[in-house]
Amino acid sequence: MARLHQNGTSSGWHVQASKLSLMTSNPIREVVENLKLTPNPDKPFITLSIGDPTCFGNFRPSNLTLNAVKDSLRVKESWNYGQTVGNLKARQAVAEYYSARQNSVSANDVVLCSGCSHAIDIVISVIASPGQNILVPRPGYMIHKTIGEGLGIKMKYYDLLPDCNWEVDLEHLENQIDGNSVAIVINNPSNPCGSVYTKDHLREILKIASKYRVPVIADEIYENFVFSGYKYTAMSSLSDDVPIITCSGLTKRFLVPGWRMGWFIIHDKHNVLAKDVRRGLLNMCARILGPNTLIQQALPAILKNTEEDSFNEMMLFIENQAKRACKMLKNAPGLRPIMPQGSMYLMVQIKIEYFPKFTDDFQFIKQLCSQQSILCIPGKCFNYQNFMRIVLTVPENILIEACGRIIVFCKTHFTDVHKII
Ligand SMILES: *Cc1c(COP(=O)(O)O)cnc(C)c1O
Repeated sequence: MARLHQNGTSSGWHVQASKLSLMTSNPIREVVENLKLTPNPDKPFITLSIGDPTCFGNFRPSNLTLNAVKDSLRVKESWNYGQTVGNLKARQAVAEYYSARQNSVSANDVVLCSGCSHAIDIVISVIASPGQNILVPRPGYMIHKTIGEGLGIKMKYYDLLPDCNWEVDLEHLENQIDGNSVAIVINNPSNPCGSVYTKDHLREILKIASKYRVPVIADEIYENFVFSGYKYTAMSSLSDDVPIITCSGLTKRFLVPGWRMGWFIIHDKHNVLAKDVRRGLLNMCARILGPNTLIQQALPAILKNTEEDSFNEMMLFIENQAKRACKMLKNAPGLRPIMPQGSMYLMVQIKIEYFPKFTDDFQFIKQLCSQQSILCIPGKCFNYQNFMRIVLTVPENILIEACGRIIVFCKTHFTDVHKII
């Protein structure tokens, strides 16, 4: 008779985790867990690390957005399963939204997903096969790595230039492309850099994509998140021949990250993508039987009531936060904040050579937390050393308090190495 409920290999059980699951990791979660943080109990803990504008309570979705879902709750279509690519009315609403703002899009080119990250997941897993590579920015938001690595897809990094407003190092990008490159990921406006690319710069990138016939995955979840004097341009509006798959969603603009509603849009004017790419994209949607139908039902009303005024107010707030943080942190010896042009983050260089007590930026961030109870995300999470990312959507008084403590911390540990002979 079989022995039941026994552990260990002698039981005859061989349940193992797949290679895919074990190779899948989120660098931010992994690194932050590894920091083993112990904030200073005498100072209230301030986290400048979470890229969720709603988590501090100072930003909330508009009543129009909330009511759109309330009104959908009792509609039968919001309980049913929907089409796996998203329901036609909801896709039409997305197509109209972009047709009015960027360039003409049809509902057939829109696929709804469970958040922007799911859109990126589907696109990458269709476009790339094991052994092939995709080009991703450094520093960059590492969702592509989380998605691609378990699948055996190689990430190749192209550099962004901190001294040129984080523009793409075009020569480096070009040098990274090889015969196995199947997509270039462009994140504009950028997380973590806060850069907003000019039309000319986007055209330069497209020139390279065109030369090597590599499509672009445009992560534009921060579309229109720009400060005064800067303009967001959709990559798709500039491309003639290069297929662009744009990924975005409600998450950041409409302040509802938890609703998990995103999409990708296929821009392929000359139908150069093989027919089976479209088929592959549709096939992948079937894996979760389509996204949330309650939010889909509300989508037309949400996208119609964009409330530009409150959005512009939020952007002005973020811009002022960026200016304030930059101004303050310029007084922190050993740090160099790089003024962003949009999105909701600030990158700060840590000139680690001025902090000989710390072996690396990781130590710096760890000690900043244990002494001053401030948590920033280390550059390592974006594959970039000696930088940290600060989230700008925190309330004003908290940002000021945090920058004040960072200054104290730097003044305490700064050593002018040039004075030591
Ligand atoms: C927040 C974010 C996402 C993920 O968006 P979800 O809709 O929450 O999945 C994707 N890309 C970038 C650059 C982001 O900052």
